[in-house]
Amino acid sequence: MSAEEGSAFDVYRQRVERPLYRLFTEYAPGRLQWLTIGMVGNVIARIASLLPPLVLGVAIDSVLTGDQPYTLPLVPNSWMPVTDAEQFWFSAWIIVGSFVTTSAFTYIYGVAANNFAHRVMHTVRTDSFETMQRLDMTFFDDKQTGEVMSVLNNDANNLENFLDNALQNSVRLSVMILGIALILFSLNWQLALVTLVAVPALFGLTIWFMRAVEPRYVKRRASVGNLNTRLENALSGVELVKTTGTEAYETERIEDASWRYFRDTMGVLRLSYIYRPGMELLAGLSFAVTFIVGGLWVFTGEAPFMLTGTLQAGEFITFLFMTQRFVTPLSQVSNIVDQYENAKASCERIFGLMDIPSQITEVEDPIEVEDPAGHVEYDHVDFGYADVQDGEPESLVLEDVSFEAEPGETLALVGPTGAGKSTLLKLLMRLYDPVDGEVRVDGHDVRELSLESLRQHIGYVSQTTFLFDGTVAENIRYGRFEADREAVVKAAKAAEAHEFIEALPKGYDTRIGERGVKLSGGQQQRLSIARTMLQDPEILILDEATSAVDTETEMLIQRSLDRLSENRTTFVIAHRLSTVREADEILVLEDGQIVERGDHDELIEYDGLYAKLWGVQAGEIDDLPEEFVQRARERARERPGLSDAPDSSDDD
Ligand code: ADP
Repeated sequence: MSAEEGSAFDVYRQRVERPLYRLFTEYAPGRLQWLTIGMVGNVIARIASLLPPLVLGVAIDSVLTGDQPYTLPLVPNSWMPVTDAEQFWFSAWIIVGSFVTTSAFTYIYGVAANNFAHRVMHTVRTDSFETMQRLDMTFFDDKQTGEVMSVLNNDANNLENFLDNALQNSVRLSVMILGIALILFSLNWQLALVTLVAVPALFGLTIWFMRAVEPRYVKRRASVGNLNTRLENALSGVELVKTTGTEAYETERIEDASWRYFRDTMGVLRLSYIYRPGMELLAGLSFAVTFIVGGLWVFTGEAPFMLTGTLQAGEFITFLFMTQRFVTPLSQVSNIVDQYENAKASCERIFGLMDIPSQITEVEDPIEVEDPAGHVEYDHVDFGYADVQDGEPESLVLEDVSFEAEPGETLALVGPTGAGKSTLLKLLMRLYDPVDGEVRVDGHDVRELSLESLRQHIGYVSQTTFLFDGTVAENIRYGRFEADREAVVKAAKAAEAHEFIEALPKGYDTRIGERGVKLSGGQQQRLSIARTMLQDPEILILDEATSAVDTETEMLIQRSLDRLSENRTTFVIAHRLSTVREADEILVLEDGQIVERGDHDELIEYDGLYAKLWGVQAGEIDDLPEEFVQRARERARERPGLSDAPDSSDDD
C-alpha cells in the first residue's frame, strides 16, 4: 500500500540517508562476532569445496596416468608425498577432508550468519514497534495502520532476506569467482582465458536483465499493492457489500486487479525466461569451448590455435569441473542486487517510521502522579487538529474553553455531534496537547506530569470497547496485571458482569476475541467497565454509548456506571437524560465553545440549546426548531464528512 502524498511517513522516509549504513552502525555493534564467524566460515567452506576437482586433476597427472610431479598451488613441494601410493592416499584424504570441511563450515556459517541476521532483525522489529507505539494519536488518525503493519511485517522480512541471503551469497560469489580464476590461471593461464571469457558475458547479461526488469518489478509491486488493498477493502466492507447486493461488482473489481497482477507478473517472468536459460547457454558454451580447446590440446599433444605450451589430462579435467562451478553463484547476482535494492527501500521505511517525532513528550523530570485528589481545571483552552502536511492546526475545534471540576464531582458534556466533546476529554488524557491555555490536574499542568502516571489515574470507558484475544479474567486485569482473582471477581460483580461470566463455558477462564467466544455489545461494555473498576482511577471519562441495547441491559450498565463514578471526578459525554439529570454541572458545547452551563433545572429554565436538545428526547417537543436544524446543516456544510443531524435526533 502506498502512502498518501506528503504523509508524515513519506516526509521522514525521504529524509533517511544511507539506510543500510545506518542499520549496520546502529544495530550491528555487539553482534559483529556472529557476522565475522559467518563470513569466515563461508569463505573456508567455499575454498574447501574447490579443492576436490583440483586434487583430482593433480592425482590423475601424477599417480593415475602420467608421471608429472605432484604439486599443489601455494603448498611447498617439500611437503608433498613421494611414492605413487602415498600420493594416491594423500589425494584421497584431501578429497574426503574437503567434503567434511565444507559441510562443517557450512554448518558453522549457517548458524552464525542466521544468528546475526535474526538477532539484528529481532531488535529492529521490537524497536520499530516500540517507537511506533509511542507516536501521537495524530499519526494514527491518519489511518496509516495498514502501512505500519506492512513496515513491521514485509519490510522487516526484506531486511532479513538481505542480511542472511544476499550478504552471504555475495561473499560466496566473490570467493568462487576469485578462487576459480586463481586456480585456473595457476594451472594454465591460456586455457583459463579461454574458459573465463564467458564471465564478462555472464555479468553483462545479468546487468541487462536487472536494468530491463526493474521497471517491470515496480509495476508488479504496484499491482500487488492494489490487489491487496482491494481484497482488504472488500473483506472489511463485506457487510456493506452484502446488504447492497454488490458482490458481482466487487468480483469484477477483484478480477481487474488480479488480471493486472497476472499481466505484470508475466512481464517480469518473460524476462526471467530469457535470463536464466541465457546464463546456462553462455556457461554451456564456455564449457564446450573449454572442452574443444583443452580436448584437442590433450588429445593431439600440441597446443591448438595460437596457444603455446602443454596441457595435462588431469589439468583438463580440473578445468571442466571448474567451468561447471561458477554459473550457480553468478546466476545469484540478480537476486543479490534485487534483495539489496529491496532492503534499501525497506530500511528507509523502517527508519522513516522510527524518525517520526512525537509531539506528546514528557518534560525532563516529570512529576509522578500519586493518589491525586482529582481536581481538574481547563483554563482558556484552544485546540485544533494538526494538518497532515505541515503539522499546524487547520482550524480551532475548541475555543477558549474554561471550567473546573472539584474532586468527586460529575460533569456532563452535551451538544451536537462534532461540537468537540470527545476532543475536549482527549486533552485531559494528553492524547493531544492544547494549542493555547492549560489543562490542570490537582493544580499541575498535565504537560508537567509523567504520561504513564497521568493515564494510570484516568479511567476511560469508551463507546467502542476493545477486547484482546485472551480470557475474560485477562481482559479485566489488563493494565492491572498483578490483581488477584478475588479482585477481578469483585470488579466484575460491581460491573454487573459476574453473572454472565459465570454462565460462560469456562467462567473467568473462557477465551474471548478472535479465537474464542463472541460477546454481545452490552457484555463487552460491562467487561470494559469491570476493567476500569479494577483500575480504580481517581478521574473517570465515560463516553456513553449511543447504540441501543435492550432496556434491561441498559439498566445494568447504568447501575454499574453509577457505582463506578461514585467518589471519582467524572466526565461523561452524555446521551441519556437520566445521566445528565444527576450531574453536578452540565456543559453545553456548540462549535467548540461552551455556550451554556449549569445544572439540569437551571438550563431548562434558561430555555436555550440544552432545553431544546432534551426537549426532543423527552418527547416534550416533537422536533427541533427549524432555526436549529438550519444551523446544524450549515455546520455540516462547512465541515464535510459530518452528519447533518445533531446527536439527539438519532436517539429517540
Ligand atoms: P463530538 O465528540 O462532540 O462529536 P469531536 O470532538 O469528535 O466531537 O469532534 C470535534 C471536531 O473535530 C469535528 O469537527 C471533527 O470532525 C473534528 N475531529 C475529530 N477528530 C478528529 C481527528 N482525529 N482529526 C481531525 N479532526 C477531527
